[in-house]
Amino acid sequence: MSTQNEFREEPGCEVEQDDPARSEAQIAAGQRAAVAPNSSTYGSDDAALKIGVYICRCGGNISDVVDVEQVAETVKLIPGVATAKVHTFVCSDPGQHTISDDILKENLDRVVVASCSPFLHEQTFRGAVARGGLNPYLYEHVNIREQASWAHKHDPAGATSKAIRMIAAAIGKLRHAVPLEQIKLPNHRRALVIGGGIAGLKAASDLAARGIRVLLVEKSGELGGHLNERGRVYPSEQDAAKLVAELAQRVNRDARIEVRLSSQIKAVSGFIGNFKVQVESESALPSEVTAGAIIVATGFRCYQPQENEFLYRMDPCVLTLPDFIQLMRSTPDSARHLTVNGRAVNNIAFLHCVGSRQLDGVHEPQTDGRLNTYCSRTCCTTILQQALAVRRRFNKTGVYSFYQDIRTYGRGEENYYIEASKAGVVFFRYNGEEPPKAEATPREHARRGALSITVKDTLTWNEELTVPVDLLVLGTGMIPGDIADLIEQMKLATGEDGFLQEVHPKLRPVEVAVNGVLLAGTAQGPMNIQETLSAAGAAAAKAAAMFAKEEVELNPFVAEVDQDACCGEAQCVTQCVYEGALRLVTREVNGELVERAEVNAGLCVGCGACVAVCPQRAIQLNGWRLDQFDAMVDGIADGVPGQNCAQELVQIG
Ligand SMILES: Cc1cc2nc3c(=O)[nH]c(=O)nc-3n(C[C@H](O)[C@H](O)[C@H](O)COP(=O)(O)OP(=O)(O)OC[C@H]3O[C@@H](n4cnc5c(N)ncnc54)[C@H](O)[C@@H]3O)c2cc1C
Repeated sequence: MSTQNEFREEPGCEVEQDDPARSEAQIAAGQRAAVAPNSSTYGSDDAALKIGVYICRCGGNISDVVDVEQVAETVKLIPGVATAKVHTFVCSDPGQHTISDDILKENLDRVVVASCSPFLHEQTFRGAVARGGLNPYLYEHVNIREQASWAHKHDPAGATSKAIRMIAAAIGKLRHAVPLEQIKLPNHRRALVIGGGIAGLKAASDLAARGIRVLLVEKSGELGGHLNERGRVYPSEQDAAKLVAELAQRVNRDARIEVRLSSQIKAVSGFIGNFKVQVESESALPSEVTAGAIIVATGFRCYQPQENEFLYRMDPCVLTLPDFIQLMRSTPDSARHLTVNGRAVNNIAFLHCVGSRQLDGVHEPQTDGRLNTYCSRTCCTTILQQALAVRRRFNKTGVYSFYQDIRTYGRGEENYYIEASKAGVVFFRYNGEEPPKAEATPREHARRGALSITVKDTLTWNEELTVPVDLLVLGTGMIPGDIADLIEQMKLATGEDGFLQEVHPKLRPVEVAVNGVLLAGTAQGPMNIQETLSAAGAAAAKAAAMFAKEEVELNPFVAEVDQDACCGEAQCVTQCVYEGALRLVTREVNGELVERAEVNAGLCVGCGACVAVCPQRAIQLNGWRLDQFDAMVDGIADGVPGQNCAQELVQIG
């Protein structure tokens, strides 16, 4: 099933015409392969290749469904396979030793491991292959756990057949593989941290403690971010100002950290180890700095209710949660009650989930058309902390909490719920599809409260209750920061929720797709202080690990231009979305100046968009060349010799 090149002649470009004889041969080979598999199906004619295939039982995760012994016996029939072995855990030390020993004893020159996801163990097996003395890129990882045994657990025969085809594809790909080397680039041992909230402060001080120079850029005039607006913070009840002061002191005292307040990033170019960043400050001339890594710690914004959402901005007796925290902080200790709009507050309602956990058809989308369907994670505990504080300070004030679910998930946070209940806070539970209604109380009844909150209380079997209050506090949560410029400059990805998105929530939680850029804190999603500091510590550790080597080492799976085949049409350059990864350069060829595409290996992410548009096939991805794809398709379609896979496919089709 080999694919035929489609060469097109473009004006002004000398295109090598397809060799008709070659095309016919290719088509013929493809047709032959589709009917009767033979050794040519598997790629290179180099019959001398010795491939080792290692199939993992994964302690039953794979072998309970896939007949791994049959897989081993079958793939042995594929030309070039010198050995095929089954192991209970190939990732174990003995499993890895088997691979490296076989490479040495049997002179293997290619290795396939069929096991779990490459996310988990690709690097493990590359290491084992390298220890056997083989180039680690002459190795293919096949995921027969997630993609065969788990995906087809009710169809063992189908899962077994699929595993065989996947391994056949990997073998085909490996037959065309060439040894590759890691890309090594110079590494500037300086980090840029964007954002001087607690995430940025923690990341900067952790990096400096490891001897790394840091430039910390904060757009406002002070360090600390949103913690500057808080009083005592849960669960420790520490004074937020003291927490910020301690972190800011560490940063300000460290000669390795340069802080630029009232400053912003104007442009970012370059790549891991070599980012060039233009910084503009209110008080200084713009400057360009070089940084090896960038930590984005730009935080969040507080949700602002829409005009008239629960009477917000229509009635002075409706405040957001951050506004309420300010009210509590500014009310003197000697006061006997809170005062809002010149009126004593005798009863307060706290309404959870305003601007969070929004539902289509129930809530108005934001101006950008988005609904905030996520939980802001910090509002429930903050509301309970504030409700408890009100009851403790003003014990005559009635406090009512209207919630969908109480989410006090962190250590010590559930105590706020327990203590608030004990202290007399009254709870009403509503269904998310029917949020409570807030109405201004008619003037003649205003003595009982300026507002009435009506709820269908699911705790009392949907009884409709109306509670008069003097103050309604909207439990507003977090929304993504206003960082569209940074997202554009650094080509960062955002999730559906609009927050910055990591590569993998579990395995690479603080990394983004752009090498050398890391996330810290609530720029990535709602987090409390503890989580923010953990994430910032992780980002700093990751950046420090990058700086541990003199050079940055990158996987070699980047695009490469065949300078002889390139005719400088630049379709690849137009298609590339990674700024600077591909460009046209002028070269002298046979005494003439011509334009040719050139790849910047530091910026290329190996997405392959350029490969798809080059009519000359002059640009290819190392490790994923087009002949390797052809061979993989052949392997999947043809399976192994002796099995009538082509017919099987026709029947499935
Ligand atoms: C109402 C409320 C109460 C809370 N109470 C608690 C509590 O009691 N306990 C608790 O554990 N958690 C609490 N939290 C959560 C806590 O506020 C966050 O965990 C913490 O503030 C996150 O810090 P950060 O550094 O990630 O973000 P931020 O505090 O938002 O800091 C980000 C910083 O980056 C700067 N910045 C933004 N964009 C740029 C840019 N382009 N260039 C340069 N600088 C930029 C900002 O000016 C800011 O200084 C609460 C949250 C809310 C909403």
